[in-house]
Amino acid sequence: MTQDFIIIGAGIAGLSAASALSDLGRVLVLEAESHPAHHASGRSAALYEPRYGLPPVVELSLASGPAFRAQPGILSDRGLMIVAGADQRAAFERDLAGFQLEEITTETARAVVPILNPESVAFAGLADHAWDIDTDLLIQTHIRRLRAAGGQLMTGARVGAIRHAGGLWRVTTPQGDHAAPVLINAAGAWVDAVAALAGVAPLGFTPLRRSMARIPAPGGLDVARWPMIFGCGESWYAKPDAGALIVSPAEEDPLPPQDAWADDMVLAEGLARYEAMVTEPVKRLVANWAGLRTFAPDRVPVIGPDPHVPGFFWLAGQGGYGFQTSPAAAGLVADLLAGRSLAIGADLAARLSPARFG
Ligand SMILES: Cc1cc2nc3c(=O)[nH]c(=O)nc-3n(C[C@H](O)[C@H](O)[C@H](O)COP(=O)(O)OP(=O)(O)OC[C@H]3O[C@@H](n4cnc5c(N)ncnc54)[C@H](O)[C@@H]3O)c2cc1C
Repeated sequence: MTQDFIIIGAGIAGLSAASALSDLGRVLVLEAESHPAHHASGRSAALYEPRYGLPPVVELSLASGPAFRAQPGILSDRGLMIVAGADQRAAFERDLAGFQLEEITTETARAVVPILNPESVAFAGLADHAWDIDTDLLIQTHIRRLRAAGGQLMTGARVGAIRHAGGLWRVTTPQGDHAAPVLINAAGAWVDAVAALAGVAPLGFTPLRRSMARIPAPGGLDVARWPMIFGCGESWYAKPDAGALIVSPAEEDPLPPQDAWADDMVLAEGLARYEAMVTEPVKRLVANWAGLRTFAPDRVPVIGPDPHVPGFFWLAGQGGYGFQTSPAAAGLVADLLAGRSLAIGADLAARLSPARFG
C-alpha cells in the first residue's frame, strides 16, 4: 500500500516525527532492529538542559520546553552543577556563562553533593534549569499516537535499497517493499549511508562515540536528589539514575556507524577524571554501554528537504541533543511538510536546513 510518508529509523527522531506527521497522512516507520530505540536513543543520559550546545541547538531546545511540559510525567527536576579545579578558572567561567549557572561556594556544593573532594574542587556553579526526561514514556507516547492515527512501526525492516520512480520513493526491506512520495531520513548514525542508497549526496555526518558506566551509589548515599554534575569543560559527567550513578568520560571518538560499545581504556580514564574530584573511589561497575552521537560538519542538526532531490527529507545530526530538541524538531518536520507557517520561525529553520551545505 502506498504511504504518504515513509520514515527510516525508529529512534527518537523518527518516532517523534512520525507522531507529529500522523495528522497529515499515512505514516510508515521502518526500523532495521527488532525493537525501536535500539541505538543512540536507547543509550542517552536522558537530560533536558536547554542551554547545552550551539545557539541553534539552544533555540530548538528552548522551543521544545512547552511540549515537554504539556505532557505530565515527561520532565522531572534534576538541576545542573559544574565543578572545576584551581587551574581551570578560565574554562569554568566559560561554562558559568554558557550554562547560565550561579557560582556557589565549594561548601554549598558539598552540602548538595557530599562526595565532592574539598582538596580538588575549587569552583562550583549550580542551576535548576535541567530536568530528567522520561525517555521510555516519550518513545511509547509517540508510538501510541502513530498507531492511534492508523500509522505503522515496522521492526526488522532494514532498508536495503531505495529507488525513485513514478513520483514515489520505493524502498526494499526484508518485510516487503513500500512506497511513498516523501522519504524522511532519520537513520541516526546511518543517515549518510541511507542518503547514498537513495542516490542523494551525503552531507558528511560523523558519529562520535560516548561511553557510560553505571556505578553503585557512592558511599551508599541517597543520590536521588543530586543534580547532574559536569566536570568543567565537559571532561566527564555523572548523573543519578535509579538509585545508582551513571558516569561518562564524555568522549567524542569518531567511529563508523555501528552498534557501539564502551572502550575499557576510555572508560577507565574518564572514571579517573571523575574520581579526582570526589572522595569515594569507584569500586565496581554495575554496567557499561556506549552510543553514537552523530554530528553534521557544523554540529547543528539538519532538518528539511534536500535542496537537490525532491521528496527526500533530512532529519539528522541530532548529536548529543536528540531528545531535548525532539518536540520542536518534529514540529518543524510537520510544519515544512504541511506547507504551513513554521512554529520555530523561518530564521531558525533556515539555520537548520540542509540547503546551508549548498
Ligand atoms: C551516551 C549518550 C548520552 C546522551 N545524552 C543525551 C541527553 O542527555 N539528552 C539528549 O537530548 N540527547 C542525548 N544524547 C543524544 C541522543 O541520544 C541522540 O541525539 C538521539 O538518540 C538520536 O536519535 P536518532 O533517532 O537520530 O538516532 P537513533 O536512536 O540511532 O535511531 C536511528 C535508527 O535508524 C535505524 N536505521 C539505520 N539505518 C537503517 C536502515 N537502513 N533501515 C531501517 N532502519 C535503519 C537504526 O537501527 C536506529 O534505530 C545522548 C547520546 C549518547 C550516546
